[in-house]
Amino acid sequence: MKKVSIIGSGYVGLVTGACLAELGNFVICADNDTKKINVLKKGLIPIYEPGLEKLVRRNLKKKKLSFTSSIKEAVDKSEIIFIAVGTPSLENGEADLTGIENVARHIALYMKGYRLIVEKSTVPVETCEWIKRTILTYIKNKTEFDVVSNPEFLREGSAIHDFMHPDRIVIGTESKRAGDILASLYKPINAPVLLTNIKSAELIKHASNAFLATKISFINAVARICDKVGADVKEVAEGLGLDKRIGRAFLDAGLGYGGSCFPKDLDAFINIAHKIGYNFELLKMVRKINQEQREFFLHKIKSTLWIIKEKTIGILGLSFKPDTDDMRNAPSLDIIDALRNEGAYIKVYDPQAMKKARELLRGVTFCKNPYDVCKSADCLLLVTEWDEFRALDFYKVKKLLNRPLIIDGRNMLNPALLKDIGFVYIGIGRGIGDV
Ligand code: NAD
Repeated sequence: MKKVSIIGSGYVGLVTGACLAELGNFVICADNDTKKINVLKKGLIPIYEPGLEKLVRRNLKKKKLSFTSSIKEAVDKSEIIFIAVGTPSLENGEADLTGIENVARHIALYMKGYRLIVEKSTVPVETCEWIKRTILTYIKNKTEFDVVSNPEFLREGSAIHDFMHPDRIVIGTESKRAGDILASLYKPINAPVLLTNIKSAELIKHASNAFLATKISFINAVARICDKVGADVKEVAEGLGLDKRIGRAFLDAGLGYGGSCFPKDLDAFINIAHKIGYNFELLKMVRKINQEQREFFLHKIKSTLWIIKEKTIGILGLSFKPDTDDMRNAPSLDIIDALRNEGAYIKVYDPQAMKKARELLRGVTFCKNPYDVCKSADCLLLVTEWDEFRALDFYKVKKLLNRPLIIDGRNMLNPALLKDIGFVYIGIGRGIGDV
């Protein structure tokens, strides 16, 4: 059993810490947000992630997991240090590595014996080298250390499952000692371990996210054609996905990707390519198509409602995807902003993201449940595909709406069923059934 610390206790750090504690290790989760740490110490979880609260509480009780706002304590008490701080986008699209550099300096100052430093955050290629250089610059003694790249592929909403059952564990290292320590930490997890050089590991993460984003933009571009010719993109995706070389995952047309990863990682990857003299035009188009999907959706709303001013628009779903409360880069934000600018009254509901949404949205009505959203609305928009919305009583929904109009930004509902009830249903690339 190892002594591990995680610096940065957000979506990734907290899940990593809780899962490694569950596997029997002694884990300290650190963060410079003292308010967050105080909440965590009480066994309360500042984010919504299914199963996480139970895992944290169980391991707090067993004393396998603890929290601190002291980076010194985390570095002092552990042999393996994961860096899981945020790496948001700067204005120019570059990744902001201020947090990474700050943590590297602190590790250098406090490190006494050998430490294995694991780069878990998503970072541009060559960041591990910079971490190494930073530590060597600030270190006070001749302590040995290794820096490895170990990108994380978990998805919010199924983060614990993804951490415990990954498709692969990527370890980028040039040191056998480091590779062995990390491989033994991950031993209880049944997944192929891919040992690579450090730069390859860093690139695997950016290339993976860029590829998945490309699949989403590809199917969204196909959806545009489906709408014009009267085909159904869901059928097209099914036909495509049955081809094992292609696969069905990430072929859901809709409002496009959002969240804290794809948009920023794509920007960073385009930026890295630019810096080394390669114009990654493919990814620029992926990004453009993604942005256009939100405009395309707004166009559908406008071309149906005609005048937006003083219309009441009900919105179901605010988080960037279901099973999370994460509002970072959520399509709902752009959509609400555009509709409010045109003078619409907005009513919203989300099963988990209401608290975070209240901090970001002004001048909208937050409703207690989906049916409240529908009351006297001229149009119902489906923006996040929470299961709860699939199970609504659509006869009741129809009675509550001013007009039986549903615009489904996630293609989650059954157009034929809704048509039978008397709705006008508009999806993304559903062709037939649209007005
Ligand atoms: P987050 O914003 O939820 O968490 C980051 C945490 O780091 C915050 O709690 C913040 O207070 C803390 N922090 C920032 N600077 C610090 C410092 N100097 N010292 C100590 N703590 C500091 O971010 P996240 O979603 O957990 O993402 C973390 C990294 O993991 C990012 O690079 C992201 O791209 C990557 N990643 C995220 C996901 C995901 O689904 N969220 C998946 C894979 C990889």
